[in-house]
Amino acid sequence: MIEAKNLTKRYGDKVAVQDLSFTVQPGRVTGFLGPNGAGKSTTMRLLLGLDRPDGGDATIAGRHYPDLPRPLSVVGALLEARAVHTGRSAYNHLLCLAQTQGIGPARVQEVIDLVGLREVARKRAGGFSLGMGQRLGIAAALLGDPSVLILDEPVNGLDPEGILWIRNLMKYLAAEGRTVFVSSHLMNEMAVTAEHLIVIGRGRLIADCSTEEFIERS
Ligand code: ADP
Ligand code: ADP
Repeated sequence: MIEAKNLTKRYGDKVAVQDLSFTVQPGRVTGFLGPNGAGKSTTMRLLLGLDRPDGGDATIAGRHYPDLPRPLSVVGALLEARAVHTGRSAYNHLLCLAQTQGIGPARVQEVIDLVGLREVARKRAGGFSLGMGQRLGIAAALLGDPSVLILDEPVNGLDPEGILWIRNLMKYLAAEGRTVFVSSHLMNEMAVTAEHLIVIGRGRLIADCSTEEFIERS
């Protein structure tokens, strides 16, 4: 479970997140919906302790992430899409990440299978398409077998096939009992991905309800 309590973050005079409170439950995909600039990435960075709030508090699985040592194993995250610039194979890229966390090769093979990269695991990760790169990023986030996954716009810019793949993967991971919190600025995408929605605009909470209820209301 993720809990945000009265989170506030300012950048200079600009308020990026304003008094934001919500909880994210396990076992379902929760969408974090809002237009570009609404404060989604900022909120996710605060949840992960990658940035300090000016006010409020965030916990994941009852723990305060800002104060915990890295790397984290309870929570996995995929933040802004960034190509992996490596000459290494996808397998070796993940193996290196795993080694820094004391995770063995058996788990590397498991996450490769989970995200459907087995066929291309020996190919150079630096040459991957955006969609394959995002799956590799999710594989990396899953290495520590986290109970909580935080994914910032994972399908942004992907083709329909890539979007479908990641959507189904998120649903599968939630059905396994994980907490999956995924941001998007696309209502249509969240309508078919998320069971529950946290909706924000200009850094403030607009709705916290089932996707069905949000669609009926709007
Ligand atoms: P979203 O992820 O919903 O697109 P962001 O959290 O990235 O929104 O941004 C929220 C607001 O905070 C935007 O107005 C953005 O310009 C501003 N912002 C985000 N990061 C910074 C930063 N490092 N410095 C200054 N302003 C920022
Ligand atoms: P590089 O791209 O650096 O040449 P390779 O991917 O060819 O690396 O393989 C390097 C090592 O990783 C070899 O020992 C190989 O058996 C192992 N390896 C590569 N891909 C996989 C995989 N999908 N499953 C298990 N082991 C793999």
